[in-house]
Amino acid sequence: MAKLICSVCGKTFPTNYKGFTCECGGILDLEFEAEFPIEKIEKRKPNMWRYLEAIPIADNRHLITFDEGFTPLLPIDFSGKTVFVKQDHLFQTGSYKDRGAAVLLNHAKEIGITKVVEDSSGNAGCAIAAYCAKASIKCDIFVPFETSPAKIAQIKAYGAEIHEVKFTREDTANAALNMAKETYYASHVYNPYFFHGVKTFSYEVTEQLGWKAPDTIVIPVGNGTLLLGAYIGFQDLRKAEIIEKMPKIVAVQAQNCAPLAKNFEGVSSSKIIFRKTIAEGIAIANPARKAQIMKAVSDTEGRFLTVSEKEIKDAIKEMAMQGYYIEPTSAATVAGLKKYVRNAQKREKIVSVFTGHGLKSANLSF
Ligand SMILES: *Cc1c(COP(=O)(O)O)cnc(C)c1O
Ligand SMILES: [Zn+2]
Repeated sequence: MAKLICSVCGKTFPTNYKGFTCECGGILDLEFEAEFPIEKIEKRKPNMWRYLEAIPIADNRHLITFDEGFTPLLPIDFSGKTVFVKQDHLFQTGSYKDRGAAVLLNHAKEIGITKVVEDSSGNAGCAIAAYCAKASIKCDIFVPFETSPAKIAQIKAYGAEIHEVKFTREDTANAALNMAKETYYASHVYNPYFFHGVKTFSYEVTEQLGWKAPDTIVIPVGNGTLLLGAYIGFQDLRKAEIIEKMPKIVAVQAQNCAPLAKNFEGVSSSKIIFRKTIAEGIAIANPARKAQIMKAVSDTEGRFLTVSEKEIKDAIKEMAMQGYYIEPTSAATVAGLKKYVRNAQKREKIVSVFTGHGLKSANLSF
């Protein structure tokens, strides 16, 4: 049976628990045994719900779904090295956050939730708002007032109640946390169901590579929803003995906001300076799941990379010149990838991802 478990004190809760932390304040994780009946999976529709036995939703007959997932995994050349890049900017709302929102909202519906609150730097808000619209669930979304205008317009279009908060991403989270005392918190950071949607990223990559794990994944990290989701996904596959070894996780941050990369290098938190970055989606000064992110990176013998604002802008342009239109946050990963491939092994199988669509930030020009 699936259950929620406190990451600090180990206390467990039934899956219909509606709080967002343990009484001790600890963040909750989900314990759930994923199964992979490969023959059945391969006969199903090409979307993320083909891994039904690995997703913690009991009633799969009335899913809220856009047939999302199974995005293309395209080979792209970076300085003579082929990298397989997951096209996760092609989801319904234009970012991979739909993976998490799909499972979170199906869970919320299953436990009888009719109203939720969420805070985000944009894309998670878009994804939660769209699935709420589809599920007829009311939602309040808090965003920092400097979020891309296109993301704010998109959230409003889905009929969500939007709250633009001054000033920082942290102020925004605090405003939402306050409302979450009374309303179900559909948080992509706190709610473990979100991660159990994002993890389908790893299932799809593995299936698309012929049920083999890549050697390395190069992914962005702010709050770590993609990073931890991917980590959980590969762990599920390893426990089920589908793959032999965890891929190495290479995590990319913007130089201007790189608390995790700096901590990893041994710089203490009080010494870290934060500046504005165009990679708004990963501009997180104090990620709530920091300890878990650090563990995932070190457990897989991975590392962090940081990229400058100029490198991010160059990457946007370079990708667009090949026909891929991605937003700055997504281009930060590409900039990191370009650094990583310089020292990659000849046979190393590398997977990366386009996380967000360029139309999200079409007001910017490069
Ligand atoms: C959310 C997001 C990320 C990753 O962010 P985390 O804070 O680590 O979850 C990366 N790119 C885009 C476009 C995003 O929206
Ligand atoms: Zn606890």
